[in-house]
Amino acid sequence: MELKDVSDVIYDLGQAGLVIGRKILARSFADERRVEPELVSRLMGRLHPGRMQAEIAEVIQETESTRTLRLAPTDGPFAPFRAGQFINLFLTVDGVATSRPYTISSPPSRPGYIDITVRGMPDGFVSAYLLGQAKTGDRFDISGPAGFFYHEPLSDTNDLVFLAGGSGVTPFISIIRDALDMNRDIAMHLIYGSRIPEDIIFAEEIAGLACGDNNLKVDIVISEPPEDYQGMCGMLDTGVIRSLVGEVRGKTFYMCGPHAMYGLCQSSLDNLGVPPERVKRELSGPPPDITAVEGWPEKFKGNEQFKVKVEGKRNRFTVRCGEPLLNSLERNKVTIDSLCRSGECGLCRTRLLEGEVYMPPGATVRRSDLAFGYIHPCLSYPMSDITIRL
Ligand SMILES: Cc1cc2nc3c(=O)[nH]c(=O)nc-3n(C[C@H](O)[C@H](O)[C@H](O)COP(=O)(O)OP(=O)(O)OC[C@H]3O[C@@H](n4cnc5c(N)ncnc54)[C@H](O)[C@@H]3O)c2cc1C
Repeated sequence: MELKDVSDVIYDLGQAGLVIGRKILARSFADERRVEPELVSRLMGRLHPGRMQAEIAEVIQETESTRTLRLAPTDGPFAPFRAGQFINLFLTVDGVATSRPYTISSPPSRPGYIDITVRGMPDGFVSAYLLGQAKTGDRFDISGPAGFFYHEPLSDTNDLVFLAGGSGVTPFISIIRDALDMNRDIAMHLIYGSRIPEDIIFAEEIAGLACGDNNLKVDIVISEPPEDYQGMCGMLDTGVIRSLVGEVRGKTFYMCGPHAMYGLCQSSLDNLGVPPERVKRELSGPPPDITAVEGWPEKFKGNEQFKVKVEGKRNRFTVRCGEPLLNSLERNKVTIDSLCRSGECGLCRTRLLEGEVYMPPGATVRRSDLAFGYIHPCLSYPMSDITIRL
């Protein structure tokens, strides 16, 4: 052994000694320094509440098919959130206790309320209710803020490109409002795809902000333009993104919009050479037509019916295989906790005791869970009679 190696060993031993010494000190003072467990749980409850109570303080008609519901807290202030996060809204519609996630469209820089901006879906259940029947003064439970679709300065670059489709603009308007309110040092480029100009949500505000002396650039892309439309037309494909963004190096891309948009935008970004770690995508709920998703067993058309048995309950009920199991359960008065309703967060995790379900690629079930028969009912589709344990 050389002298240098010996001195390295002595140095390492010294460091180890320091660590052990600090541990002993920490242990002897532990009683005095202990943080009250109640304080910790109160703080955690404040930062990450399971539920918060909210009341509709104002309804703002944004477009013909879109409304913003301004929610005010009724039992103490709302938990803090990051621009881009969502809440889950719990409500009862036609006797069915259910929930849907909605992005917070207001920015954290404007405290005291949170906005959700809801677009009516054709044949939608909750969105139709929120557009048609919800009114000022109505009260709901909402979840604490959730999700990871925000600008993270520790890992993202400060040059951001937002690819929005339809109501997928909601997280971006929150991020943009927050960044401009707080003078954040980030460059933002919103590329907003809409079917027709009348469907553009926050149109006036976005146009106004785009003209301002700030770090925001906006491009609107219309896929079904009227005859006299002067602006950019098409889909958010490779050609459009390349022409609007130019050099992709150093940029972080964020995608939020309808299911169909993700495939197109992702392959476009792949074509342009954007590395995977520079692409973020928001969760998107169950696909509009599960039978069209890759891997769906061709022998099922989606209308086939199966029986569901919940362990410990007497009755079996009939469900359609093309509908997410969570929705079928709720319709049959079986409510389980849920948050993202997109197969990812795992809050609705349930054990499948018998039978088979189809889970599309978006369902991120842990491998060990799969091995022991756990499923995420929000993105599971029965393929046979099944028995589950809640
Ligand atoms: C993280 C996140 C953020 C979101 N943010 C917004 C937002 O800001 N604004 C907004 O407008 N929306 C947002 N959504 C979508 C929203 O949660 C709802 O999915 C949307 O409002 C439609 O709900 P609905 O009850 O009207 O439609 P549903 O009736 O739930 O239909 C939604 C989809 O669920 C499936 N489905 C449900 N019921 C059936 C059935 N009986 N048979 C077959 N399939 C069925 C279908 O695939 C259908 O396309 C967000 C979703 C997620 C995951």
